[in-house]
Amino acid sequence: VALEREEHAHAEQSKVLDAVRLSNEFRVALADSQLFLEYQPFVELSSGTVIGFEALLRWNHPVHGRMPPDQFIPLIEETGQIIAATRWVFREACGALLRMQQAAGNNDLFMSINFSAQDFDEPEFVTSLCNVAEQEGIEPRNIHLEITERLLLRQASHVSETLKLCRDKGMEVSIDDFGTGYSSLSYLHRYPISTLKIDKSFISNMSSDDGALGLVRSIMSISDNLGLSIIAEGVENDQQVSMLRSLRCHVAQGFYFSRPLAESDAISLLNGVHID
Ligand code: C2E
Ligand code: CA
Ligand code: CA
Ligand code: CA
Repeated sequence: VALEREEHAHAEQSKVLDAVRLSNEFRVALADSQLFLEYQPFVELSSGTVIGFEALLRWNHPVHGRMPPDQFIPLIEETGQIIAATRWVFREACGALLRMQQAAGNNDLFMSINFSAQDFDEPEFVTSLCNVAEQEGIEPRNIHLEITERLLLRQASHVSETLKLCRDKGMEVSIDDFGTGYSSLSYLHRYPISTLKIDKSFISNMSSDDGALGLVRSIMSISDNLGLSIIAEGVENDQQVSMLRSLRCHVAQGFYFSRPLAESDAISLLNGVHID
């Protein structure tokens, strides 16, 4: 037993060392342009038109190669590095959005950006977002903030004030992975939310599981009553598209329409060029 305990302690220690190493490497990554973004379109189901994109962070690690965000974002949230990362993502995504709007001749095109709870602890959070957007030539109304239920559960008054300020400036606020958190429905009218993104687990189970379908139906009717928009995430096939259409869901995202794309491919997509 003692030996086992010792091995366990070793394993824990090396996990900590790995985390420290990765966190140091991330500092280099930020400075050294190892980070880049991909853009996954939002599609209007009635017309098949691309109406916006979500920016997704990628890390091209010099040793491990392409690292998926789930493998480093939780860590950099813990170390506080997420704040610098979000700042980088935000500016980069605004720059890309301007080029996309110009290429498509469409200044209604929007960019949706993922935020972590820590981002909201920054004083002047909203002012600095608005300043960067302005510098990059982007109107706040074309920016959507994706937040999670976890942030709202903190029930901090500054979160509510910050979100209100975002809305006042014209930005939209979406709840990501909706339905997977410890939702209390009361926050849907307590916080100034614009959009619910129905989590992909419900979309993928909708056709085989009546419970999942029922949940999607309930989310649709709640959003209807509260005047919220809906986006279906993780749409992968025809059947899901037709179910969503019949549920009167208007906007969707998922591999069925497109994987996350490099900026140049996103622009080709906007220009109607076929992408493999
Ligand atoms: P998310 O925000 O829920 O993003 C959706 C994830 O699902 C993306 O994974 C996307 O590639 C994937 N996805 C999209 N459509 C489909 C589909 O049809 N089927 C399946 N199976 N998956 C689909 P990705 O890019 O690996 O990102 C994972 C998570 O990392 C994101 O989940 C988000 O929570 C986080 N993340 C990514 N970029 C950022 C960022 O800039 N900031 C922060 N704070 N988090 C980020
Ligand atoms: Ca998201
Ligand atoms: Ca999501
Ligand atoms: Ca997620």
